Amino acid sequence: MTKVLYHNDVQEEVLQSKKIAVIGYGSQGHAHALNLKESGFDVVVGLRPGKSWDKAVEDGVQVVSVADATAQADVVMVLLPDELQPKVYEESIKPNLQPGNALAFAHGFNIHFNQIVPPDNVDVFLVAPKGPGHLVRRTFEEGAGVPALYGIYQDCSGEAKQLALAYAKGVGAGRAGILETSFQEETETDLFGEQAVLCGGLTSLVKAGFETLTEAGYQPEVAYFECLHELKLIVDLMYEGGLEGMRYSISDTAQWGDFVSGPRVVNEETKARMKEVLTDIQTGVFAKGWILENQANRPQFNAVNQKESTHPIEKVGRELRELMPFVKKQVNSKKEVVSN
Ligand code: NDP
Ligand code: MG
Ligand code: MG
Repeated sequence: MTKVLYHNDVQEEVLQSKKIAVIGYGSQGHAHALNLKESGFDVVVGLRPGKSWDKAVEDGVQVVSVADATAQADVVMVLLPDELQPKVYEESIKPNLQPGNALAFAHGFNIHFNQIVPPDNVDVFLVAPKGPGHLVRRTFEEGAGVPALYGIYQDCSGEAKQLALAYAKGVGAGRAGILETSFQEETETDLFGEQAVLCGGLTSLVKAGFETLTEAGYQPEVAYFECLHELKLIVDLMYEGGLEGMRYSISDTAQWGDFVSGPRVVNEETKARMKEVLTDIQTGVFAKGWILENQANRPQFNAVNQKESTHPIEKVGRELRELMPFVKKQVNSKKEVVSN
């Protein structure tokens, strides 16, 4: 089994003498900045004036411009949206990086696909929590953590690995498990997971189930509960006990249906499509498309987003959730529900 490191396996001295700039204060940024600060590290947040800036000030964190934060810091963690990172890096981070500094990321996309090319004289590492930022924060406050991957792209100082591990411990990942990866593996598996299973695979499965039931004349409300709402209850069981834990809790009828019908829906043909998706990720075809889409101002992204919002499952879902305030309350952040 791959070696998993925990809190007591990691020495944090190497990071104690350093100043950490957290660039961005969104989903990941606020969690990293607050957790690191409460772990005893010296943190400054780099931002532009705006909503996040005001929130960081409200939270009692020191906030300055991205350029100033970079100039002050020894370790610069870039937690801006991936598609904006190259521009901000060129304009405000790169000119203020000192030799011997460390440049860090929570996702490998821009380094792996060469959208950011760091100088040779800095360390470059990755600490990627495997969970939404709001959970990285919430679990930390509860005394737990979200597992994280770490990886080294460039070790100039000879201590990049110790730095990455100390950083991961500082955000609370030591309580859940810290695993070694590479920028390539993290980038490709993260993209594949969200496309084929977590986000893309799941939304398509849910919609297909809902459409099948409603096209057969069943009530949309019933179809919504059956194909979307109940999903969380099933996923919670899988999260706690794997597939077998979930199967232990469901009825034998449900389990039999799982065995005989699941493979009729998701089968070798589906897997062949998944392999195509993976190939597009590995060859850079997906990355190129997403970079060009952003350069063109997201015409397709916006069109599909608009069309998806009019799907009948969304209409009935909005109505039903209005009547379940306890559900709505948890969805306090778009990031918390859609991003990983
Ligand atoms: P968010 O979109 O939540 O936050 C982005 C932050 O960047 C905001 O604080 C925003 O501030 C700030 N920002 C945007 N543009 C600029 C700019 N030009 N100058 C200064 N600040 C700016 O990002 P995420 O936390 O989702 O993602 C950050 C990184 O973490 C990405 O690499 C992502 O892949 C990775 N990641 C994200 C996960 C998640 O849970 N969302 C999970 C694991 C990794 P403002 O309010 O001013 O717009
Ligand atoms: Mg991702
Ligand atoms: Mg049932």
